[in-house]
Amino acid sequence: MSRFWSPIVETLTPYVPGEQPRIPGLVKLNTNEHPYPPSPRVGPAIAAAAESLNLYPDPTAAALRGTIAEVYGVAPEEVFVGNGSDEVLAIAFQALLKHDAPLLFPDITYSFYPVYCGLYGIAYREIPLDAALRVQVADFTGPCGGVVLPNPNAPTGIGLSRADIETLLRAHPDAVVLIDEAYVDFGGESAVPLVRDHANLLVVQTLSKSRALAGLRVGFAIGQAHLIEALVRVKDSFNSYPLDRLALAGAAAAIADTAWLEDNRARVVATREDLASALQSLGFEVLPSVANFLFVRHPDHAGDVLAAALRERAILVRRLGHPRIADYLRITIGTPEACGRLVEALRAILHR
Ligand SMILES: *Cc1c(COP(=O)(O)O)cnc(C)c1O
Repeated sequence: MSRFWSPIVETLTPYVPGEQPRIPGLVKLNTNEHPYPPSPRVGPAIAAAAESLNLYPDPTAAALRGTIAEVYGVAPEEVFVGNGSDEVLAIAFQALLKHDAPLLFPDITYSFYPVYCGLYGIAYREIPLDAALRVQVADFTGPCGGVVLPNPNAPTGIGLSRADIETLLRAHPDAVVLIDEAYVDFGGESAVPLVRDHANLLVVQTLSKSRALAGLRVGFAIGQAHLIEALVRVKDSFNSYPLDRLALAGAAAAIADTAWLEDNRARVVATREDLASALQSLGFEVLPSVANFLFVRHPDHAGDVLAAALRERAILVRRLGHPRIADYLRITIGTPEACGRLVEALRAILHR
């Protein structure tokens, strides 16, 4: 604490990202990064853009937004881009989700949401997941200033159907429903096709997970132009150039390479299914994931003990703070080799 702080700083409880330690031979399955390098088109695009780093980037990111619009079948005015989807979310919370009535989101979900609420002074109400840790859209009732829902949910990996999202949109016609599709490419059902008919829908995606570009920091939102305009107004009151020239060029190259996305999500999904069976045969309960991670617990072993034992073997997985999920481990889908090392380590820890 310091007497120089603005009053709000003392009240903040910042988000804590998964650790990025430097341990030789580490098997890193804790932050849902993609196990393979990005599209081979990304590097050359960034190298070419580096020639022009003396110039400011395009503040409207027109080329990247055009590429996203083409690939997703929407208009460029329906696309917003930001420095990672965390920034897109932060801007959306301020621009569209701060109202008198509380914002609704699940009790177990992406733990950045309450952090944005603290930063912007947004009231919120947490809607409990059901006993099987599923989102029940029928429980999202009552007056609200907005709804935020990851689909698939984090950290459970469980997906909702497009019909469920549509139910939610119809239940709250006067509030923005933000669907955070960080993991949708690994088997979820995207809400993007609903944008045309729903003035209150904002879909947020990222290049960090399915496009293997966590290090580049690019995310985007798709919604009707009136919602996008609100995001642009906040962004232009804050930072004209959140995406630099390298990020703009690399992201456009990655989005355009749809064949890379198809091939590499299939590899991750295949590894996910193999890992799920291997963990089940070790006695783990595995939630049905459509993401690039599994959320698992063992009936006879506490989550903190397992995570610590894995860590001793230089294998990192993530545990999340909420008491309802204290015994669960969130395990990122790595390469088959990395997942194999995890399974062997767990076999030794469980004496199987
Ligand atoms: C990873 C993640 C994000 C943020 O991704 P960026 O790297 O900031 O684009 C947003 N929402 C959820 C649910 C995530 O898991």
